[in-house]
Amino acid sequence: MTSPAKPSSKPTTKKPDAHVPDAFSWDADKSPTFEKSARASLQDSQLRRNLGKATKTIREKREVAVSEMPDWELLRQAGSDIKRRVARHLDKYLLQLEESVVRAGGRVHWARDGAEANRIVTGIAKEKNASEVVKVKSIATDEIKLNEHLEAEGIHAYETDLAELIVQLSEDTPSHILVPAIHKNRAEIKDLFQRKFGQKLSDEPEELANAARLYLREKFLKAKVGVSGANFAVAETGTVCVVESEGNGRMCTTLPETLVTVMGIEKIIPEWRDHEVFMQTLPRSSTAERMNPYTSFWTGVSGGDGPKEFHLVLLDNGRTDVLSDRVGRQSLACIRCSACLNVCPVYERAGGHAYNSVYPGPIGAILTPQLVGVGKKGPDSLPYASSLCGACYEVCPVKINIPEVLIHLRGKVVRNRQDKEDDWRGHPLSTLGKKLDPENAAMAGMARAFSDVKRYEQAQKLARAGQLPFKRGGNIKSLPGMLGGWTSVRDLKAVPKRSFRDWWRENR
Ligand code: SF4
Repeated sequence: MTSPAKPSSKPTTKKPDAHVPDAFSWDADKSPTFEKSARASLQDSQLRRNLGKATKTIREKREVAVSEMPDWELLRQAGSDIKRRVARHLDKYLLQLEESVVRAGGRVHWARDGAEANRIVTGIAKEKNASEVVKVKSIATDEIKLNEHLEAEGIHAYETDLAELIVQLSEDTPSHILVPAIHKNRAEIKDLFQRKFGQKLSDEPEELANAARLYLREKFLKAKVGVSGANFAVAETGTVCVVESEGNGRMCTTLPETLVTVMGIEKIIPEWRDHEVFMQTLPRSSTAERMNPYTSFWTGVSGGDGPKEFHLVLLDNGRTDVLSDRVGRQSLACIRCSACLNVCPVYERAGGHAYNSVYPGPIGAILTPQLVGVGKKGPDSLPYASSLCGACYEVCPVKINIPEVLIHLRGKVVRNRQDKEDDWRGHPLSTLGKKLDPENAAMAGMARAFSDVKRYEQAQKLARAGQLPFKRGGNIKSLPGMLGGWTSVRDLKAVPKRSFRDWWRENR
């Protein structure tokens, strides 16, 4: 075996923010709107080509894998039922999980938010005198910016999932839940590895994977602490499960003497036998595989085998707020398969970075605004990042009705804006000021017109006369002011000379 490649430099983790909000750790207050970010990514034709090719391939393979299962719909229903039961009795299952983990020799930590979870993990790493940790891909730790916090405390986190390593080495951010470097092609990865590992490489996948393997092997063998996420944790037995395709997760969870798992509280499943459902639906929905290549299970600690210490960090970070919303809580059933991303026409064109969140695509569009709370410009724009075609709902293996939640959240965003106390300059708005807000006034006017037949017909007459300067053929291509938002991306059908009601009155 050749000796591990020496990197030309240590992969850098982006600098921690001066202030990381307690409630949530991505810059929800400062992030731009989806529309603005999507406009920028739509200019990148290479990105669109990479994404289009990758999502088409996964989509087609998934369709074949799913069509082989005669009971697919029953499995979807079973998955949905299990996750909804978890949401209804989460308090009970969390306590049961804690008891099971402790019984098996592990320790359980409760973290209200990202800051608390980061303090716990950093504290454990420091206690073990670790200057480096190895990590298996975990979106929960991306959500709380764990790597940046560890870096600030002098501890470097090595991502060991190949795609995450690519993202980390290129100082980029993930753009897909399952394939974080989906926006990069082989040639770009070859250039990156040549630069970072200081060796000549071809763009053959085997050669690139081997270079990464040699680099990572040394890290696995040296690390005192491993950090993982969790796909599932069984309340009944305390068993934690990680599902991955490369074997890096198994190295992370077995080689270091101390293992820390950071898990969102919604990842619980009640019983061991529930795996029967998810081990069939998750691999087929995510990578289109009949069976997942590497599935690791561990229950506390066992002498002479694997880590000597196991810590489970249960992360809330906004999840209990999501749980309190009758419609929105179904988002917590997500098993992060990413099938909804691969079928979404908006995601395919705009790419993951346009969502400005660790959760891109349709699931990100409903999860992010709920986790950070309505009232922030960037996240508030996400429920609108959809054509409501419903493809995401059709493929979701746990039947999350994403279009329903999107519409529900749009309503919340609008109601929040109508109730806002300040104008755009931060000046307090009087009751009259709220009424005069152009959007509020337009919505109130439409609500009045649509609630009464006479008023509706009157409004139609007015619109018929008012459209004349803008009408070209049967379409209106451009409207002034606020209304221009509609016609900037699509034509508006002109109000016809005669309405259906008029026709009906004349012909019945
Ligand atoms: S919402 Fe459904 S389809 Fe999308 S990632 Fe989650 S489980 Fe998969």
